Amino acid sequence: MADFDLAIIGGGINGAGIARDAAGRGLKVVLVEQNDLASGTSSASSKLIHGGLRYLERGALRLVRAALTEREILLRMAPHLIRPLRFVLPLDPAGRSRLLLRLGLLVYDRIGRREILPPTRALDLTTDALGLPLRSRFHRGFEYSDCFADDARLVVLNAVDAVERGASIRTRTRCVRAERGEVWRLILDARGERVELNARVLINAAGAWVESVAATVLRQAPLNRLRLDKGSHIVVPRLYDHDRAYILQAPDARVVFAIPFQRDFTLIGTTDRSFSGDPGTVTPNEGEIDYLCGVINEYFRANIAAADVVWAFAGVRALYDDGARKMQDIDRDYALVLDKSFGGAPLLTVYGGKLTTFRRLAEDALERLSHFLPHSRPWTAKAPLPGGDFVFDGGPALVARTRRRWPFLSQDHARRLVSAYGTRVEQVLGAADRADALGECIGADLTAAEVHYLMSKEWAETADDVLWRRSKLGLRFSAAQKAALEAFMQGK
Ligand SMILES: Cc1cc2nc3c(=O)[nH]c(=O)nc-3n(C[C@H](O)[C@H](O)[C@H](O)COP(=O)(O)OP(=O)(O)OC[C@H]3O[C@@H](n4cnc5c(N)ncnc54)[C@H](O)[C@@H]3O)c2cc1C
Repeated sequence: MADFDLAIIGGGINGAGIARDAAGRGLKVVLVEQNDLASGTSSASSKLIHGGLRYLERGALRLVRAALTEREILLRMAPHLIRPLRFVLPLDPAGRSRLLLRLGLLVYDRIGRREILPPTRALDLTTDALGLPLRSRFHRGFEYSDCFADDARLVVLNAVDAVERGASIRTRTRCVRAERGEVWRLILDARGERVELNARVLINAAGAWVESVAATVLRQAPLNRLRLDKGSHIVVPRLYDHDRAYILQAPDARVVFAIPFQRDFTLIGTTDRSFSGDPGTVTPNEGEIDYLCGVINEYFRANIAAADVVWAFAGVRALYDDGARKMQDIDRDYALVLDKSFGGAPLLTVYGGKLTTFRRLAEDALERLSHFLPHSRPWTAKAPLPGGDFVFDGGPALVARTRRRWPFLSQDHARRLVSAYGTRVEQVLGAADRADALGECIGADLTAAEVHYLMSKEWAETADDVLWRRSKLGLRFSAAQKAALEAFMQGK
């Protein structure tokens, strides 16, 4: 008998989403992640839960419809991590035609099931306040709906839920070898220690590493189905005061987003370049940062330069190569490749996918494996993630309730905690009746109590895990505070 029904390599959104779904179906699941959860692409996305307006242009109607439908499902599942976001699309006379964009947005509004998100409206940017941050040559535009998410916390909370449903999540555990027999025998490097386990079914959800895992861990012949595409983002001090995002058409026909981020900042991305090399070492280069600043300066009255960038990050998209020539032409949908050759234990390989479609991808993966696993039904569409058991627009009420219960919290602190932990803020703050009952404040509003919670319940082990993946407090920490946090976490 195997130790596990299902073993998953990769603790990004796809691996964590599958682990949660499978554990909730009663399967015995183990997930191994070589670093921290979401340390790969899943913390480096544009953080949009969207259909992808630009994919419509390429006729990817099925992908766009499926993704649009997921928006409100996910919003209801995780109202603390995901919020509706209105996008302003200024019309650029040199860009796509008004008619084409109007038509695209009409389709966008119609094909996505929309009960919560408001429809598109036309804007007169010469009179509307949304036109104020823009240069005066932009006269007209549209405003439409999508959603914004905390991508890394989405991964972590899928993993938390998976564990609460019986899964084993092993971070800093690299799968170094997988041997196929009637069951899979996995050899793991768990913080320098060799560990073995076996599982009836294996899923390779290693994202941008999927083919290197296939070659070096599974010793499979090269499949060459993967194309890697690097995308970079920058974060600058807030460019404008309102809560909408802008979607900008760059001169080379790419789109660049400017999104309100962490209250005091604007997130700007993304570039789109083909990539080769180790996805673990990807960083934005000077040219990409200048490119993003240049697009912003074309559109906004404010001028930014590389010196204004307070944080920059890059990620690598793993695209399933369907033979299309240009990177932008490759469909962003996912592909699930099932290999059950030689009567051996089955292997499912996950290629591509979007943050937006992870829940559907997990359902599809388990459907593909249904012949090998006990009968089960999809269940995740209506099940909130941990802390997400409140109504989609109940955030402000939860913040108010949190401040009544813990009156020493400032409005901003309560808001940050609610948007990270939702109703589980209770578990973070416990019975504290005054600020110092939460222990020392390590930097910004991060307390010892919160760090303890993250270490005991969310696999945080280093300062970066806390500052860049469990939160974005890295934007507010000095180097000395970061060192103090690291020392605190290592018990020094
Ligand atoms: C720039 C950019 C912007 C994006 N923006 C959006 C967006 O706005 N909206 C959207 O819906 N999608 C977006 N995406 C797509 C989305 O981010 C990805 O599809 C998604 O994060 C991929 O998740 P994953 O789990 O497949 O891969 P990853 O998150 O990379 O996870 C794979 C994991 O496997 C681990 N691993 C590798 N080898 C091993 C091994 N041997 N043993 C153990 N673990 C291993 C890695 O460490 C890694 O953590 C964007 C992508 C990029 C690059």
